[in-house]
Amino acid sequence: MKTKLNKSLLKSLRDAKSSCNLSLNEEQGGFILKALDTEEYKYIPVRNQNTGTLKARGLYIADRLEFGKNVLGETIADDWDLFASFHTHPWGCPAMPSSMDLAELFTSFPVNFIYAPESDTLNMFTYIALPKTDPMLVKWQGATIIL
Ligand SMILES: [Zn+2]
Repeated sequence: MKTKLNKSLLKSLRDAKSSCNLSLNEEQGGFILKALDTEEYKYIPVRNQNTGTLKARGLYIADRLEFGKNVLGETIADDWDLFASFHTHPWGCPAMPSSMDLAELFTSFPVNFIYAPESDTLNMFTYIALPKTDPMLVKWQGATIIL
């Protein structure tokens, strides 16, 4: 499925992509904030707490201090809401969530973006709660974003 997004969101995704050093074969990322009253978005990069270690090749975990200062600081001080996570996958990996992504990262955000540099693919995963039957049953709707 291909999706067209709001211009400001597209710009923040371009910012997200260009803020990554793709010659560094590590997962990198950050967060997209949305203005409370308008369709305005902005990207805030947050370093991978694993950067410089082998772990960073397969796992993005936002540095807590940077996340608190740069992301939560903005949402508390100004009229911004946390909208989405963004992270890259290393070379050789598709832009599909790993089991860690599904278990840890995705549970905190209604929307999650994954960028795979090798195929230059950006995918968006939007949370959909499946009705009634099982409250634990969660579905992620995927879409490829053309920047
Ligand atoms: Zn991932």
